[in-house]
Amino acid sequence: MSLLVPDFYMRSVTQITPDFLKKQQIFALLLDVDNTLAVDKATAPPPEIIDWIEQMKRAGVQMRIVSNAKHRRIAGFAGMVQLPFSGLSCKPLPFQMLRAVRALQVDGAHVALVGDQIFTDILGGRLCGVRTILVEPMMEEPGRFFKMKRRLERRIKCKLKEY
Ligand SMILES: [Mg+2]
Repeated sequence: MSLLVPDFYMRSVTQITPDFLKKQQIFALLLDVDNTLAVDKATAPPPEIIDWIEQMKRAGVQMRIVSNAKHRRIAGFAGMVQLPFSGLSCKPLPFQMLRAVRALQVDGAHVALVGDQIFTDILGGRLCGVRTILVEPMMEEPGRFFKMKRRLERRIKCKLKEY
């Protein structure tokens, strides 16, 4: 069960501040894209996310995009905010994420993964030993599979305290 419980639970990435990260000794972030930085399947980040990324960069927070989506779309997205990225990362499998942590050159104890899905992002982050920040999905996805997944997530989320 604890593999499915995030260290922190927030409404949106924009609630992550340099002060919060400093207090938690988090120096680098692995960022999910779909429904974390933008609505599902978006090709560009919204303005408030661009501002947030700029704020993080100014504060010296290292960031890397780690998405399960296709390389091409994520490359375009990452290029717009000038962040390094890994596409098709097969979360929750830890292999690509471990590679991403190594690329950050920050000890894993000081890295946090930020994502909207418990069974993909939080589990993946846990499996590679980084800290995890769960955010609310930006929109509701269509389809029965997602509805079922979100229903299971709600059972875990109802026990979490929002930061
Ligand atoms: Mg996502």
